[in-house]
Amino acid sequence: MQKKMYADIIADINIDSLDRTYQYIIPRELDERVQVGSQVMIPFGRGNRCIKGYVVGISDRAKISPDKMKCIAGMSEGAVSATENLLKLAWWMKNRYGSTMNEAIKTVLPVKKSVREVTKKYIVLATDKERAKAYLNELSNKKNAAARIRLLTVLIDSESIDYRMASGSLNISKATIDSLMNQGIIRVISEKIYRNPLADSTESDKKLSLNPSQLEAKQGILDIYYGRKGGRVLLHGVTGSGKTEVYMSVIEEVIKDGRQVIMLIPEIALTYQTMQRFYARFGDRVSILNSRMSAGERYDQYERAKNNEIDIIIGPRSALFIPFEKLGMIIIDEEHEGSYKSEMPPKYHAREVADKLAEYNNAVLVMGSATPSIETYYRSEPGYEGADRVIRFEMNERCGGAKLPIAHIVDMREELRQKNYSMISRTLREKLSECISKNEQAMLFINRRGYSGFVSCRNCGESITCPHCDVSLTIHHRHGKEKLLCHYCGYETNMIKQCPECGSSYIGGFGVGTQKVEEMIKKEWPGVRTLRMDADTTSGKDGHAKILEAFKNHEADILIGTQMIVKGHDFPLVTLVGILAADMTVKMSDYRAAESTYTLLVQAAGRAGRAEHAGEVVIQTYVPEHYAIVNAAKQNYRDYYEQEILYRNIMKYPPVAYIMTVFVSSASERLSEEIIGHAALVCKRLIGEKTTVTVMGPAPHRISKVNDMFRYQMFVKSSDIVFLNGIRDTVEKVIQEKYQGITYSLQFDVE
Ligand code: ADP
Ligand code: ZN
Ligand code: ZN
Repeated sequence: MQKKMYADIIADINIDSLDRTYQYIIPRELDERVQVGSQVMIPFGRGNRCIKGYVVGISDRAKISPDKMKCIAGMSEGAVSATENLLKLAWWMKNRYGSTMNEAIKTVLPVKKSVREVTKKYIVLATDKERAKAYLNELSNKKNAAARIRLLTVLIDSESIDYRMASGSLNISKATIDSLMNQGIIRVISEKIYRNPLADSTESDKKLSLNPSQLEAKQGILDIYYGRKGGRVLLHGVTGSGKTEVYMSVIEEVIKDGRQVIMLIPEIALTYQTMQRFYARFGDRVSILNSRMSAGERYDQYERAKNNEIDIIIGPRSALFIPFEKLGMIIIDEEHEGSYKSEMPPKYHAREVADKLAEYNNAVLVMGSATPSIETYYRSEPGYEGADRVIRFEMNERCGGAKLPIAHIVDMREELRQKNYSMISRTLREKLSECISKNEQAMLFINRRGYSGFVSCRNCGESITCPHCDVSLTIHHRHGKEKLLCHYCGYETNMIKQCPECGSSYIGGFGVGTQKVEEMIKKEWPGVRTLRMDADTTSGKDGHAKILEAFKNHEADILIGTQMIVKGHDFPLVTLVGILAADMTVKMSDYRAAESTYTLLVQAAGRAGRAEHAGEVVIQTYVPEHYAIVNAAKQNYRDYYEQEILYRNIMKYPPVAYIMTVFVSSASERLSEEIIGHAALVCKRLIGEKTTVTVMGPAPHRISKVNDMFRYQMFVKSSDIVFLNGIRDTVEKVIQEKYQGITYSLQFDVE
């Protein structure tokens, strides 16, 4: 008798208590088709409802008595199977991010179902031209033959016609086509086509000879690559230093070596121009993924990768899961970007997942940025000894002689003293007038993300911070009163009316919107053409691309926007960048506040003066002495980093230690408070006497209520990630048992 085989299967249901593998018998007729990574249909639960499952293992040993075991019902037709490395990655993600295995598998299989292939249909003559002409002659005397005459005339002339064109611009009905087909005059043929989203690019490649620092970086990366042991690289290069050229020349080599490349770019920077550059160099061997593509288009890219038709995929974080068999390199451009972190479980960071995936494939991970994340830079420092060490290359000059912009820091407290109550300083006003009169372009930048109700003094610039956590307190309405609250530890104090530093009463929360700025500009400079880019104006397909395109074509003089406008766009006419309220992020109630500020300022400044025009940047702030602002103006990453890492060291924030966020939300404030309180108790019990672990909170979330759900959070800091993961799993289990049948959400995030 043939040996029975059994499959370990993860059922496609998202219930934590069912998050384990179930063993099923593989029926003989499916023997060949069921493999690790396959999607199958299985009877599940008491009612034997047929649901989908993912095969994650196969063995010849039954874990329970085979008489009690159910049988796989069939294959999930048209489904895509995962490669072994991707499944391995899913297991790793489940453990690292505390999601269910089902969620993890769904993430690594972003294209869930195959979509019907697109076939292109053509109509051709089924007979020779002479017979067709004779038939056409016959038709000319007949009634109701106009459509047939139109079609045949075209076919005799050009031999074939696109089916859609025939029914569209020639207005030929299906009945007409069918009848001609039945008479043997024409034939419809179809050809399977893959949709390559780049297929109509036309630009030609301008291959540049690399400058010395580019060559050094290229050679360094290739040396690591040919070491054949994988490895990690940080390419730290100022904006415009030619990082993209380095990526392209390295990619060329990797492809010549017979391996493939995944390149991650933040979705917002996936511009047509960027894509053109790659398409011009690599032609049909490069493809892209983005969220605007249809399921069918995405599936095609997946298929093309599987069939070895492409060597490079470019896309946002989900491009990591393209099934390349011989992955040789992963590049993460703008590696500091926040959008690399997923907001949905598993809440993975693409940088970490890329690191794992590279490791499984012996591939090299290249991370590039003008403003590297503190985590990555920390690991590239000479003293760092961890196994995840990063080799760093620096490129400090802009290409083609373009200069870094000249930055002016404007002290907004001084503006107030000079009785300028406007949100535009005198310096910025002057430079804007100049820019407009020279017919050049300007970008004004407001940071919406920091719009979070912190309180600061417009006279001395001081913001009110938590005495325990050194992050800003935020205004909150609790039980009908205005309070100041720390979102890390829950410290609470009454709202103040006077600055504790200088006694001024110019104190309060503040913020401006893009719309208000636009109105102001139009009033001050009548006739100036403005474009506004924020969440309101960019909804709809290609919304932001259209605005950027219009600005690039000089259809406006000033672009006003939120952080959306700072990402990797090239505007040769922009000579002035104004940052209206640089402090908005410095004072954000988050340990990353200074990091976000530095990054945003440098990236925004990078927009000015990329071509032959020298650029200028005006940074308006109430804290002109803050290290993030001072160093951003000088583009001095090194000094900024040293101050930043000092702060992280003192406060034990990442990357010096790990921080776990525990987050609860529910429709009842009391319930949310109770659950987070209980979670805190469990944490404290587990931590016991350990002094290396600290609990902060619980406290209401910075945004304490969203869609009528009350949100609370707490933090646990430790340098031991295994210990933190242990706490996470225990807390999850205890809360699940205690609050069975009650609706709430409990989430964890270890950074
Ligand atoms: P980054 O990605 O670092 O911002 P890019 O690769 O986009 O920089 O390069 C910035 C500009 O400099 C581009 O217009 C590019 O064509 C140009 N450039 C890059 N490398 C060179 C080079 N070696 N010589 C001349 N121009 C270059
Ligand atoms: Zn003050
Ligand atoms: Zn605090």
